[in-house]
Formats: sequence, C-alpha cells, structure tokens
Amino acid sequence: MTHPLPPRPLQNPSPMGRCTLVGAGPGDPELLTLKAVRAIQSATVLLVDDLVGPEVLALAHPGTRVVHVGKRGGCRSTPQAFIEKLMLMAVQEGEHVVRLKGGDPFVFGRGGEEVQALRAVGVEVEVVSGITAGIASAAALGVPLTHRAHAHGVIFLTGHAQPGRSDDWAQIARTAHSARLTLVIYMGVTHLAEIANGLSAGMPGDTPAAIVERASLAGQRHAVCTLATLANTVEREGLASPSVVLVGDVLRGLDAVGEQGDGAQDPGFAARG
Ligand code: SAH
Repeated sequence: MTHPLPPRPLQNPSPMGRCTLVGAGPGDPELLTLKAVRAIQSATVLLVDDLVGPEVLALAHPGTRVVHVGKRGGCRSTPQAFIEKLMLMAVQEGEHVVRLKGGDPFVFGRGGEEVQALRAVGVEVEVVSGITAGIASAAALGVPLTHRAHAHGVIFLTGHAQPGRSDDWAQIARTAHSARLTLVIYMGVTHLAEIANGLSAGMPGDTPAAIVERASLAGQRHAVCTLATLANTVEREGLASPSVVLVGDVLRGLDAVGEQGDGAQDPGFAARG
C-alpha cells in the first residue's frame, strides 16, 4: 500500500511527534470544544473521517497535511489497520497527528483500537471528547435522554450488526423497558425493520420513537412516531444515514413533525399527544 502522506523535504531524523484523538462533534463547528479547535489548529497532520465537514477542516493551518480516511464516494473505508499504521508512521516522523473523528472518538468510532495500537508501541495519546451524535440528536429534538420521572438511564447501541454477532433486541428492549432506559441507536437505518421488530418483542409497540438525520447540520430532519410505526415512518420520510434512532418514554408528547418542513404527522402518536 502506498503512503498517502505527501512527501516532506528530506531532513535529519525527527524526534518523536505526538498524537491527539479529537472528537469533532456532530457536524456544526460551533459544537467543537475549545480543546478540539486548539488541537486542529496545532496539527501538522490531520487524519479525518467522512463525517467531519469542511467548516471544521477550515480551522486547520494551511500547511497541515490532511488525509481523508473515511468511506468516500461509496468506496470501502480505509482499513483500520492501515489508519493505525499511518498514525504511527506520522508520529515517528515527528508530526503532531490529530485524528479527527465525528462525534466523540470513544463512541462507536474505533478510537479505542487506535489508542491501543499507539500505546502498545509506547506512543502517548491525548484524547479530546466530542459531542456524540446521540446527545446532539436529543438536543435537536429538545428532549432529555434522562428524566427523573421517565428515564433513569441511557443505552447507546450500534444497529450495525457485527459479523458473527446476533443482537438480542428483544432482550435489550425488555431491560430498557423494565429499568426505564432510553435507547439511542447509531447506524441503525439499514437494519431498522429488523431492529424495530426485535425491540417490539420486548417493549410495547406504542413506545415513542424518533429518528434524527444530520443532527446539527444543514438539512437536519427528524420524524417522531412509535416503535410500531418506526420502520414505515423512516421509509416513508426517506430518512437516511447519518441518523440516530431514539426510543423511550422521554419522547412522549413530542410533535410528530419532521424538521425543516418535511415529515408527515403520525396519527397514532399525535393522537396521544
Ligand atoms: N463517534 C461518532 C459515531 C460514529 S458511528 C459519535 O460519537 O457520534 C457513525 C454513526 O453516528 C452514524 O451512522 C449515525 O448513526 C451517527 N451520526 C454521526 N453524526 C451524526 C449526525 N450529525 N446526525 C445523526 N447521526 C449521526
């Protein structure tokens, strides 16, 4: 595999660089932390995921070498091992590598694997938290994820099935229902019918549900419905990735309107208001 970093002029061997793993938040640059902005501005190499937008990248110094390592134009994402190798090579070349990841780097971002790979060879990694998409989605809807009366906790889940692993959605639903936990499902759009079906076996079909697409970004949309109508609603509204699905009583009473004009009423939910 070729080294995608543009070459630097030959020089004496550099001292070891450093690496900062930075959460870029859900997309709106105003949701970056000050620490994230500082790290981006001081990076000499930026390794960037797809979900990080141009306004965030514009904060980087003009001389910063930017490498996109996410899924682009329908291509497969850069293999994880290659990203880790690239990070290590750049650190060994004396660079300040900022690994910029959407949302929070430690929520479904494989940030843990990257930190592990670097620490295994003695490279210290600083981690800067970001606002994760699930939190941003709740804010977009104006609902809390926890509530003293309605939800005593939150479960963050991935709907992206791992090879060889079958999620027991009914079991998750039973736990969430009995312990009054809000479900926040990332990467759930592709398998939504299957997920909603599984969840329905463990919690009432009239449990409120919502989906938020492109939280905090231009074109943000959402739909509110019930667990029973979730898959149909998402299909009807054409909601797609990147989206977060929320399920739980904290959503009760939300208007069923989709943001920015889109999204029809779901009579089943609206009737309960
Ligand atoms: N580390 C990220 C999650 C990476 S997994 C975080 O903490 O947010 C990628 C998934 O995150 C997407 O499939 C989608 O489910 C969710 N996601 C990321 N950005 C989003 C956004 N702006 N709006 C809604 N969902 C988003």
